[in-house]
Amino acid sequence: TKYQEESSERRRLYNEVIELKGNIRVFCRCRPLSESEIANGSASVVNFEPSSDNELQVICADSSKKQFKFDHVFGPEDNQDAVFQQTKPIITSVLDGYNVCIFAYGQTGTGKTFTMEGTPQHRGVNFRTLEELFRITEERHGTMKYELSVSMLEIYNEKIRDLLVENSTQPTKKLEIKQAAEGTQEVPGLVEARVYGTNDVWEMLKTGNRVRSVGSTCANELSSRSHCLLRVTVMGESLINGQRTKSYLWLVDLAGSERVGKTEAEGERLKESQFINKSLSALGDVISALASKSAHIPYRNSKLTHMLQSSLGGDCKTLMFVQVSPSAADLGETLCSLNFATRVRGIESGPARKQV
Ligand code: ADP
Repeated sequence: TKYQEESSERRRLYNEVIELKGNIRVFCRCRPLSESEIANGSASVVNFEPSSDNELQVICADSSKKQFKFDHVFGPEDNQDAVFQQTKPIITSVLDGYNVCIFAYGQTGTGKTFTMEGTPQHRGVNFRTLEELFRITEERHGTMKYELSVSMLEIYNEKIRDLLVENSTQPTKKLEIKQAAEGTQEVPGLVEARVYGTNDVWEMLKTGNRVRSVGSTCANELSSRSHCLLRVTVMGESLINGQRTKSYLWLVDLAGSERVGKTEAEGERLKESQFINKSLSALGDVISALASKSAHIPYRNSKLTHMLQSSLGGDCKTLMFVQVSPSAADLGETLCSLNFATRVRGIESGPARKQV
């Protein structure tokens, strides 16, 4: 019956939540070689063991091999659905009152936006998440009442911009993070749009992307140098005992993690890359401090971590996608990203296991 189905679904979610409690997970995703890389005769330097879904091996320039282990590893063959299936249990715990943060980290061009946003044909985590949240709220109809709303913002050079404010002729409102009474962080003035179904979400995401690209001569370039944050606010009310919950789900497409060459980095570009380095390392420091259960968590070192303070740590669930390219030309950045993710996860990587 419907009641049995619902209670078994709840039990399943509950068990997953218990298992994930206070947990930080790192998923690695390696994109396929692009057409131009194939045309250039580029070979893949990232290998996957068919028997393992959480290990990968990188062939270094000196032919030595380095092994990495994460909570899950997705190769070029894994599609958006495969990625979402692994992500789903973490995300849906927001409906049970948990705060959740999901990040895509990596060099520009490795598929951060593909994973989070996707394309109209291959929708990513953001859209699938909202779709799943609506599906579950429908399923729980009768026992729980939910209200979902969406905010979308960008952090560029440590400045916050509301991506749901369309009127580009108005000077951008200055948005700042404020400490709210209950110890959470608020951004007064940030648009929070109620969403009733996936169509609303799709429209919202389109608006956000349009606003994001206004005023920049090269939208792609700019978007790789800013962090894009989608926040879903879930207000829940139990129709059985009246208990209310408010929780946040953050879906974050981070600025490109690549190091800028010394010659390139001048003026504005230098300033940008300093801000990016600062906020990405602040994020790494916060996550690794949480993973090692450190007494002091340095949230205040960047706008990004300050904003996410109440959604990182404690009972919150955190997932980082470390995105990499398979191409030999990107080997240096790939190793940097994998090392960063390994450090964040708090597990040491070792030399490659002997092949037998
Ligand atoms: P980033 O956001 O990290 O700069 P993008 O998401 O823009 O990278 O990806 C760069 C290009 O690679 C895009 O054309 C994207 O469609 C493609 N791409 C990335 N990941 C995949 C994947 N797993 N499968 C197919 N194409 C991908």
